[in-house]
Amino acid sequence: MRSITVFCGSADGYNEYYREMAYQVGETLAARRISIIYGGAKVGLMGAVADGALQRGGEVTGVIPSFLKTKEVAHEGISRMITVDTMHERKLKMHELCDGVIALPGGWGTMEELFEVLTWGQLGLHRKPVGLLNINGYYDPLKALCDNMVQEGFLSEFVNASLLINGSIDDLLEQMESYVAPATPKWLTKQAI
Ligand code: AMP
Repeated sequence: MRSITVFCGSADGYNEYYREMAYQVGETLAARRISIIYGGAKVGLMGAVADGALQRGGEVTGVIPSFLKTKEVAHEGISRMITVDTMHERKLKMHELCDGVIALPGGWGTMEELFEVLTWGQLGLHRKPVGLLNINGYYDPLKALCDNMVQEGFLSEFVNASLLINGSIDDLLEQMESYVAPATPKWLTKQAI
């Protein structure tokens, strides 16, 4: 993988461990010469990922909608900032530029971005690996919800298994490197579930 899109919180979270780990993710990606695409903000975990990468000489591209591009939000020290008109355009651009996606802890914005890219994968519109960095067990409840979707017949077991989840960034990257997307899942039929 040469480039990874990172989705994560525009907040820091209450536990400072989140910010420390986000910074470390930036450092790790830069050390592996993997360029980062993200939402272009300097705030929250988003800013921490960018700062960690920049401090190690990494390449960081922000994709920001014009309405968010204020001095308080936009990171002015990144390698490249792409300004788009809408949130939808931003997601498409972030998707186009990457070989894989990692979600760190975040709120609704992070979930919205994550589930859109998972849905596109489920429909066979891309074959890129999508990983959750499960810092501090943050994503355990989401994993439980996805397992319940399978249990209750709303999600294919194979599709669920394609979402990579790991607490270590190095291990998650290894998983992503060796990821093979499932054949376009026939999840629409009852039998396939
Ligand atoms: P949230 O998880 O709700 O904090 O939203 C974070 C995600 O939504 C990021 O991956 C961004 O792409 C986008 N986002 C939300 N708020 C902002 C912001 N203030 N500046 C830039 N991007 C944001």
